Amino acid sequence: MNKGTVIIGAGAAGSLAALFAARAGQSVLFLDGEEEPGRKILISGGGRCNVLPATVADAAFHTSGSQPLLRRLLSAWPLEEVQAFFERDLRLPLRREKDKLFPKSQRARDVRDALVKEAIKAKALLEVSWKVAAVERTGKGFLLTATDGRQLTAERLILAAGGQSVPTTGSDGSGFALARSLGHELTPLYPALVPLLTDDEDLRALAGLSLPVRWTARAPARDGDPGRVLGTGERELLFTHRGFSGPAIMDASHFVTRDKASLHICWTERSAEDWGAALADPGSRTVHRLLRKHLPARLATTLAHRVGLEETDRLAELPRATRQDLVQALANFTLPISGHRGFAHAEVTGGGVPLAELHSKTLESRRVPGLHICGELLDAQGPIGGHNFLLAWISGRLAGQA
Ligand SMILES: Cc1cc2nc3c(=O)[nH]c(=O)nc-3n(C[C@H](O)[C@H](O)[C@H](O)COP(=O)(O)OP(=O)(O)OC[C@H]3O[C@@H](n4cnc5c(N)ncnc54)[C@H](O)[C@@H]3O)c2cc1C
Repeated sequence: MNKGTVIIGAGAAGSLAALFAARAGQSVLFLDGEEEPGRKILISGGGRCNVLPATVADAAFHTSGSQPLLRRLLSAWPLEEVQAFFERDLRLPLRREKDKLFPKSQRARDVRDALVKEAIKAKALLEVSWKVAAVERTGKGFLLTATDGRQLTAERLILAAGGQSVPTTGSDGSGFALARSLGHELTPLYPALVPLLTDDEDLRALAGLSLPVRWTARAPARDGDPGRVLGTGERELLFTHRGFSGPAIMDASHFVTRDKASLHICWTERSAEDWGAALADPGSRTVHRLLRKHLPARLATTLAHRVGLEETDRLAELPRATRQDLVQALANFTLPISGHRGFAHAEVTGGGVPLAELHSKTLESRRVPGLHICGELLDAQGPIGGHNFLLAWISGRLAGQA
């Protein structure tokens, strides 16, 4: 079989690439290794698919490479136009929930189906259970070989095979291997948006508790220097039976997996100074009476126990050092992190093909003319809340249009 444009991966970025390439009049074949394409879309957002964020701040996105190139990529398709594409072109009404957009139907399947249907309507051909094992550059294009030995050629190739997080979806990292085999260097890969682990039983015992926190990620401390601040944020933290999760942890986790950062939590709106002042003016209250006014009771007990206090201890009788420990525990608690849940449980793969190796307007490879790369394969990632699909939609469209 000889096709004009072949797209490897019929997930988020690949479907958009197929749709826009076919609309531009290209003969398009999009392949997926799975029988059911776009499985990651199906499981996204707890089966509801958080299609987009309601607002976008460029600074929320990360790359190990060039920030200006990342900003250029993000500006290629403004959020309101992406939203209009889903609502008008795909006839998929979206509903805002706080800072996120979901399909009104609340079904991720509707998003996947609408994308694939529209691409097929534009005359793209979809072939499932076609897992690409190898790609070779030939004189005129590319020769693709499937895991079962089938072969086909392509004049142009779009690599949209996703990352390697939750590999059971079919996005198993083979796209990175294909990019490498074609001559691309990759920045180091790491699990991003991933739950973290702790060995501390008293914190695991808080499983199920969720509360808004302020977090700070700090680079490893060196020679008495506390380590520079790598990132901060304010979102919900969830205690789990294994450690920590929830949007705050997911957003901060790449600083841990990539930079070996420590995470510091302020559990309430009060700063260390506020707590210092409140604890220094104790009256006749007990530690617990004060803490429970500001914290869930279980967390208040745990934090107090961690600095050696009992429920009945009176604030007036606290030794100075204990008071300082308590302020620290309340406003700058260092999470005791023992590891992370790895790619199997990460929502996104960080690192990948450097943006500098691609032409920014077309995402065509600077190393391999005729090859375009998009989606999670790129060294770019966003926080939780629809930002990673936004990257997939924008980059898939750019590659397809080109
Ligand atoms: C549990 C979970 C929930 C998530 N929820 C959200 C959310 O609500 N909002 C959000 O913005 N992001 C979410 N994400 C992240 C988001 O799903 C991804 O960032 C996005 O799907 C990446 O798009 P992609 O097209 O690059 O890759 P994918 O959507 O993963 O698509 C890649 C496709 O390529 C196919 N493929 C892979 N290798 C080959 C090969 N060798 N040959 C042929 N086909 C191949 C795969 O089968 C797959 O269908 C979630 C991720 C997970 C794991």
